[in-house]
Amino acid sequence: MNVSRRHVPVLIIGSGIAGCTAALTLADAGHEVLLINAGSQLLDGNSELAQGGIIYRADPARNGGAETAGARNNDDAVALEKDILVAGHNYNYRKAVRFLCRQGPSCVDDMLIKRAGVPFDRNEDGSFNLTREGGHSTPRILHCRDYSGRAIMEGLTAQIMAHPRITRLHHRAAIDLLTSRHHAKTSQYRYEINNRCMGAYVLNEESGEPETILADWTVLATGGVGQVFLHSTNAPGCVGTGVSMAFRAGVDLANLEFMQFHPTALYEERSNRRSLITEAMRGEGARLLSHKGQPFMQGYDP
Ligand SMILES: Cc1cc2nc3c(=O)[nH]c(=O)nc-3n(C[C@H](O)[C@H](O)[C@H](O)COP(=O)(O)OP(=O)(O)OC[C@H]3O[C@@H](n4cnc5c(N)ncnc54)[C@H](O)[C@@H]3O)c2cc1C
Repeated sequence: MNVSRRHVPVLIIGSGIAGCTAALTLADAGHEVLLINAGSQLLDGNSELAQGGIIYRADPARNGGAETAGARNNDDAVALEKDILVAGHNYNYRKAVRFLCRQGPSCVDDMLIKRAGVPFDRNEDGSFNLTREGGHSTPRILHCRDYSGRAIMEGLTAQIMAHPRITRLHHRAAIDLLTSRHHAKTSQYRYEINNRCMGAYVLNEESGEPETILADWTVLATGGVGQVFLHSTNAPGCVGTGVSMAFRAGVDLANLEFMQFHPTALYEERSNRRSLITEAMRGEGARLLSHKGQPFMQGYDP
């Protein structure tokens, strides 16, 4: 068996929005990055399927109250935090929520608008056309028509492909993480408190051979688990391999019982793919009707 081995400074597993933004951020900071994914091209996960859009910030000009745009942005960060805590039934990790609400909009500015040049829809006056999704108390969602994920991923992947410090390998399915505890050569390492990740075993799906990728830093960006359900709007590869690898490597997992479901999808008998009917439609006031044209949701959520 021809087992190949290589060493890289940074290994990123998964090329969705998480993997691509991590790759660009680290490569811009001067690190050599190897980005691998299971599919035949960069666009193979859930990210390109996203329709509704991405959270930004309420338009300060239309969001009165505080005096300056900065103060109004801060007001929206506080309002967004409240919306997220309500939607999360206060189970949320508050520090993470606060970080997301305060840093998220400027990350969207820097990475998606300025760096990747994503052409988010604008109003006639040049301001962003913000929409509102379920759970949000105000419009703050940036979108590109109803193919926001594809537009975002096209912008990001163009930057990835042009970056001199990012190498891409497709058809590489990570099998397991290499960790100091798992793979120690002497028993003493097993007693170390820090269990370090040192890369991953990867199946080269073109050659059928496993490869060893040693890395100083490994980023697990393998997305969700939606395809473990019979009916799913997720991409075919979303089967939770990252969660399983992390678990086997000794990572503590939490909140796995919380799963976002899309209640509205098109059922097609001949295909396993379920196309989503975007939740932005419900945010904009669309209602679910039975085959008789009758609203029925009040029976479940009065
Ligand atoms: C139909 C649909 C609509 C959505 N709409 C919205 C929306 O409007 N707004 C919103 O905010 N969110 C939306 N979401 C959710 C959003 O798409 C995801 O939260 C987001 O894309 C996750 O990004 P990611 O980078 O973590 O994962 P993904 O984009 O799923 O990327 C995962 C990557 O990991 C790779 N991978 C997986 N396992 C392995 C392995 N073992 N080895 C190597 N590579 C592996 C895959 O090949 C892929 O490249 C939607 C989701 C779906 C399915």
